[in-house]
Amino acid sequence: MIEDKNQSRTDLSNLGEFALIEHLTKQFKINHKSTIKGIGDDAAVLDFKDKKVVVTTDLLVEGVHFDLSYMPLKHLGYKAVMVNLSDVYAMNAEATQITVSIAVSNRFPLEALEEIYAGIETAANLYNIDVVGGDTTSSTKGLLISVTALGEVSNTDVVYRSGAKPNDLLVVSGDLGAAYMGLQVLEREKEVYKVNPNSQPDLEPYTYIIERQLKPEARKDIVKLLKDLEVKPTSMIDISDGLSSEIIHLCTNSKVGCDLYENKIPLDPQVISTCEEFNIDSTTVALNGGEDYELLFTISQEDFPKIKANPNLSVIGYITEVSAGMHLVTRAETKIELKAQGWKNFNA
Ligand code: ADP
Ligand code: MG
Repeated sequence: MIEDKNQSRTDLSNLGEFALIEHLTKQFKINHKSTIKGIGDDAAVLDFKDKKVVVTTDLLVEGVHFDLSYMPLKHLGYKAVMVNLSDVYAMNAEATQITVSIAVSNRFPLEALEEIYAGIETAANLYNIDVVGGDTTSSTKGLLISVTALGEVSNTDVVYRSGAKPNDLLVVSGDLGAAYMGLQVLEREKEVYKVNPNSQPDLEPYTYIIERQLKPEARKDIVKLLKDLEVKPTSMIDISDGLSSEIIHLCTNSKVGCDLYENKIPLDPQVISTCEEFNIDSTTVALNGGEDYELLFTISQEDFPKIKANPNLSVIGYITEVSAGMHLVTRAETKIELKAQGWKNFNA
């Protein structure tokens, strides 16, 4: 298990609020021309000229969205940024700024906040994001972290959930189900640890799926790739709640149906082997697992030659008329209606 090995503990009450904010944010630099004023005034000032601005927020609550017994604080900071950037990229936009708000109880020392901010800083540097503000307050119990991300996109580049047309191809980046299976492994090790704190788990066979759970990456690279390939998706969404529910969102917003092919869903070998070990169906995991932070999008058929050789992209189905409904075509070539949740036993 990953334990907080930090020895020194500086009580937050030893610092004033302003000293704390200054301490946590002084290292942030401004890189974007659109940031006129960052941290340090009553509000940030941004200038996006003739670009469209996209804004998105996610709130992460201890015990609901993360468990600190296996989530290192640094990773938590990193992930809190990623889940927001993923939403910006899903609009085909460039992420430019974030604000970070945290509420902490006195159970957390300064060193814990430093860890969270180290993760935020790593994410901001890697993804070229300006941290332009936030809020800091106390909570009676537990930790809350809320990130708001802003991004810019031209009028012609912005992609909504609503543009998919019949015959478009359904495409997904990366592979699915890994974050969910990583969580299953971490939960299992947590139970083992409770019984025997001296046990040394061998997590080597699970490194990829655990990393996908603890340190997801938003697919900035896919937005760039599509631009380079001169492919503008007709619709796009990020996969946070599982492929099935995101496909349903896309189709509902676009007023279309779809056929999704089970044998085309991209799975990492570690997902397949861990599913076997846990006796879970890997398709169910890909459809309902969530936290993949991959991009799901549709393209017109004529763009297929531009993407077909790319190892980062998988065509998993196609769009149909709305009257045809939304279906999974199984390996046995039976058609099953897609459901957002509780869809567990299609094999039965
Ligand atoms: P106010 O009293 O106007 O809310 P604050 O003292 O909360 O101002 O914040 C002062 C400055 O520090 C503002 O620019 C704010 O956006 C920024 N800030 C506050 N908390 C954080 C945080 N946790 N992370 C990043 N910036 C923060
Ligand atoms: Mg404030």
